[in-house]
Amino acid sequence: MYLKHLSVSGFKSFAKKSELEFSAPITAIVGPNGSGKSNVAESFRFVLGEQSFKSMRGKKGEDLIWGGSHSTSRGNKASVSVTLDNTKRVFPMDFDEIAVERTVYRDGQNEYTINGSKVRLKDVQELLAAANIGPSGHHIISQGEADRILSATAKDRREMIEDALGLKVYQFKKQEAEKKLKKTNENIERVQSLRREVAPHLKFLERQVKKIERSIALKTELTTFYAEYLKREDTYIAHHSDRLKSEREVPAKRVAELQAELTEAKETLAAEAHDEKTDELLSLETKLTTVRQERQQVLRKSGQLEGQQTYVERRVKELKQQAQSESDAPVPIGDVRDLVAAIEKEVRSAEASDEPSKLKRALQGVVHTCGAFMKRLSKSTLVDTTKEENELADIEKQLVAAAKEVEALAKQETSLTAKYNDLKQAIEAEHAENREAERRVFELSGELRECENELQRIDAELRGLERDRDEFKRELQEAVSLLGREASQYFSFEIVDGGESVTTKAIVTEDRGKQRERRHELEKMKIRLEELGGVNEDIEKEYKEVKERDEFLVQEITDLEASVEKLEELIAELTTQLNERFVAGIDKIGVEFNRFFTLMFGGGEAKLVRAKPKVKQKKKDINEFGEEIEVDEEVEDEAAQEGIELDVKLPNKKVKGLDMLSGGERALTSIALIFAMSQVNPPLFIILDETDAALDEANSRRYGDMIEALAEKSQLILITHNRETMSRAGILYGVTMGADGVSKLLSVKFDEALAVAK
Ligand code: ATP
Repeated sequence: MYLKHLSVSGFKSFAKKSELEFSAPITAIVGPNGSGKSNVAESFRFVLGEQSFKSMRGKKGEDLIWGGSHSTSRGNKASVSVTLDNTKRVFPMDFDEIAVERTVYRDGQNEYTINGSKVRLKDVQELLAAANIGPSGHHIISQGEADRILSATAKDRREMIEDALGLKVYQFKKQEAEKKLKKTNENIERVQSLRREVAPHLKFLERQVKKIERSIALKTELTTFYAEYLKREDTYIAHHSDRLKSEREVPAKRVAELQAELTEAKETLAAEAHDEKTDELLSLETKLTTVRQERQQVLRKSGQLEGQQTYVERRVKELKQQAQSESDAPVPIGDVRDLVAAIEKEVRSAEASDEPSKLKRALQGVVHTCGAFMKRLSKSTLVDTTKEENELADIEKQLVAAAKEVEALAKQETSLTAKYNDLKQAIEAEHAENREAERRVFELSGELRECENELQRIDAELRGLERDRDEFKRELQEAVSLLGREASQYFSFEIVDGGESVTTKAIVTEDRGKQRERRHELEKMKIRLEELGGVNEDIEKEYKEVKERDEFLVQEITDLEASVEKLEELIAELTTQLNERFVAGIDKIGVEFNRFFTLMFGGGEAKLVRAKPKVKQKKKDINEFGEEIEVDEEVEDEAAQEGIELDVKLPNKKVKGLDMLSGGERALTSIALIFAMSQVNPPLFIILDETDAALDEANSRRYGDMIEALAEKSQLILITHNRETMSRAGILYGVTMGADGVSKLLSVKFDEALAVAK
């Protein structure tokens, strides 16, 4: 016996702790209507983990707790504990006894313990499932519920039978696997969505990294290209620079020589041109000019003298005419008065003095004054032209001298002119000879010009090369800043063309256009490199991280898909096992059902039939008027699971089918099926709540017989009012309810039980 003990406390009408021992194979619980018997059956459901309040006649957890009465206050919690024997280790725990307890509080909280340790509901369910005990299983048939197996749909009936066959464990496993499968698929979706989320960023990074890779490749290409370009350029410039410099030496030297020679030739020419004759000619010219100027001067002077002579002569003439007119003029009276006044003044001053010397001086003064008066008077009447005549004589002398001088100078000029002309003729004869010297100067100048032109050409080329060199230096700097210091190692680079090393000769003789093309290409490469952007290590790092994460996600998806595959396999396997066991179980139950049925009814036939559910389907048909119409047709749903139909035939009755049975017949049929189910896979205990209510005496006896047969394999707890049933029980419990509404349990004897049951 596996069921040992039940303790109910605060559960429904059991306000106080009530205990039941199940020491016999059959225990009957008896009592009047409403005393709380069914509450005992429900307390079993409760402790075994039932989650449906409806099957415990409640709406919520609180409904299961003692609600209180006028004399007893309500409880805060309801708890039920069941003790099971595990000496045969039917439960997967290393204990001889297992006590499962469930408590519900008013706030709806539930607590489960196994042997005093708190556990989850799932742990309780798994533990009990191992011994084929479930909360709403076939082994607890509530009041009026026996009929449920008859009225249930084929699908629900299948579930009940599966439960009875102990296929719940497989169902659990299958459900678990399905749950896992669902979760795994959700996880796959989640991971895929994560991948989808990160995909654009990853793509962006991928593009960036590809760009960086292209940039690195281009840089490598550019390094090689640069090395070749720089080497060629340097080689070319150095070579041609040297060549031109040495080429320059010859004309440079020649120019110096020519310049010296030319200077010399010019000097010669100049010397020849400026000889003594020329100097003499020049001096003659100068003398001639001087003589001419002197003559002109003398002529001008003589002209002046002549003018002067004319003037003096006219003056003399004028003076003589004037003197002639003035000798007849009277003496002004005023002059005479002035003379008298002056004499008087002299005399008076002498009269005042006695000194002889003063008198003498006065007399001398009178004489002087008179003399002066006379002198002045005569002056104005006498003409003296001596001075003018002297002057004229002097002019005459000078004019004579000037004429002589002019003559001398004219002679001199004539002589000089003759000399000049002679000399000039002689000089012109000499000029013809000087042309040779000029030719030499001309020749030298020509050659010098050629040499200078050559030098200019070379210098122009050299300047071009200098510009190229400047450009080359700038390019080298740019290469170093772009590619690093190694760019300056271009000289060790080996230029290869067509598999062969390119010689210096080939480099320096190459058409310059080709190098310009290289330069052009170089520029294009630099632009491309700039467009690609630099190497961004952060991007590379981020790409690596995001890529790794994505790869991780891919791996996760692969793993999850592998789990999906395994789970699907497991589900398929479980489904197969379930089906196989179900089919085998149905066959066995079918046999037992028929046995119990014929036993109950003393004949007849009962069968379990597996059938797919029917579905309506549209079908084309022809109606009475010959028209095509659509009609509904019931066909088996091939995709659906098989359900279980009952096929019963009562003895001596023509009617077939469940619908034709009376209430008692239905009760017997359902009992037959429930018992049949219990026989194939006997549960540890069966609780039947008034399953026998509708039976008449004869059938009650048959029921009693079957119960005894059943009790051989399963422990029975029977809630009953039936005397026959009571008589088969080893232990009888009476349930009573007083005015306080509290259910009480007591162990009773058969006679007492009969009394209590009423
Ligand atoms: P019958 O023989 O008529 O089937 P029974 O003995 O099976 O009756 P039950 O249905 O088990 O009786 O008990 C019903 C009684 O339990 C009712 O009186 C009801 O008031 C009482 N009851 C149910 N829930 C509670 C609760 N939470 N608190 C107090 N009493 C409760």
